[in-house]
Amino acid sequence: MKAVIFDLDGTLYNKRGLSLRMVLHAPMDIRKMQAERATRASMRGMWLGDEKHFYETFFQRMAARMHCSATAAEQWYNQRYMPLMVNMIGKYQPLSEWASPFIHDCQQKGIQLVLLSDYGFAKEKLQALGLSPALFDWVISAPELGGLKPAPELMHIISERIGVAPQECLVIGDRDDTDGEMARRTNAQFRKV
Ligand SMILES: [Mg+2]
Repeated sequence: MKAVIFDLDGTLYNKRGLSLRMVLHAPMDIRKMQAERATRASMRGMWLGDEKHFYETFFQRMAARMHCSATAAEQWYNQRYMPLMVNMIGKYQPLSEWASPFIHDCQQKGIQLVLLSDYGFAKEKLQALGLSPALFDWVISAPELGGLKPAPELMHIISERIGVAPQECLVIGDRDDTDGEMARRTNAQFRKV
C-alpha cells in the first residue's frame, strides 16, 4: 500500500446527529437542506469534467428544487449551509478515535495521504476537527475535480497526481455506494469504517 485516500464526512468524524443539529440551528432552511440532499443524490457518480461545469449543474438543479435563482442557491450554500456545517462539526461531532494515530502511523511508513471529500470546505472541516490539512499530501473535493463519487475519473486524477497506481491505493470511507464503488471501479482497495 503506497497511498491512503480518506473520505471525510462520516469517516474522519462521527456524523451521527449532524443533520438534525443543522435543522435545529436553522429551522427555516429545512426545505433548502432537503433540496441540497436531493440534488446531491441525483448527481451521485456524475462526471462533468471540471469544477465550473459541476457547480453550474449543481446550483441549477438545486435552484429548481428551491424555486429560486441559481445565484441565490449558490449564495445560500456557500454563505449559510456550509459554514453552518463546519460550525456544527467543530462544536459537536467528535473526531474518529483511530484517525490521528492512524494518520501518524502512515506518515512514519512514508504512505501518501489524500483527503477526497464530496463536499467543499474540506480544509475548514479538518481545522474544525483539530486536524491540520498539512498532515495530508493533498486535500481536494470531488467537485473541484469535476464530479462526485463514485466517478472513477476522481481516482484516476488522484493516482496521476500522486504517482501511485489505484491498485496500490487504499480508500477508507463510510459509504459502500460511493467510496467503495469508486474503489471497485478502479481496482483500488477499500476499507469501510
Ligand atoms: Mg462519507
